[in-house]
Amino acid sequence: MTLLNNCDITQIMECIADATKMRVIASLSDPIDEVFPYLNATVSNITYNHNAKVLVIKKQHRLITIYSEMVTMAKIDDEEDAKRILNWVREIVNSTWERRNEIVPSYETQRLLSPVDIYGLLPKTNCKQCGETTCYAFTCALLAGTRNIDQCALLDSPEHAETKDRLWSALIADDIAQV
Ligand code: SF4
Repeated sequence: MTLLNNCDITQIMECIADATKMRVIASLSDPIDEVFPYLNATVSNITYNHNAKVLVIKKQHRLITIYSEMVTMAKIDDEEDAKRILNWVREIVNSTWERRNEIVPSYETQRLLSPVDIYGLLPKTNCKQCGETTCYAFTCALLAGTRNIDQCALLDSPEHAETKDRLWSALIADDIAQV
């Protein structure tokens, strides 16, 4: 049985994470939150908040946030990329739903990072290049939404590439907690 029939792009914007990429919002033709615990049990690179009914999946550089009837995607290459990813979402939702009797669902909510955790991921040089006086002030500005991760130039170095991805996941998960 097909759970999700269509995903339609409703909005395309500049990505706040990366000006060369796009942020895309799509509406779903059917509510799909029943499949979330099964996806949580089987898909890698996933963050799940069962109470908020939201999943975040990291697919290469992209971050895909799936709500019951909506998908938002950050760091998308272009419209064709958005369509490909939405097709992929539809396929994993439907194939996982078809196999649900073979899967033990997981309701585990991944712990969200605290401000101290986020501060711990920053370079902690207090170099002020981001416009804040300290890395901790930058953490607070990130959480308040008045700064974005790209404003810490030190995170662009290869040694911090993985940290930058983790920060993105953490901040998106933090948004989810406020849903
Ligand atoms: S640019 Fe990065 S390392 Fe420098 S103070 Fe800001 S957050 Fe800290």
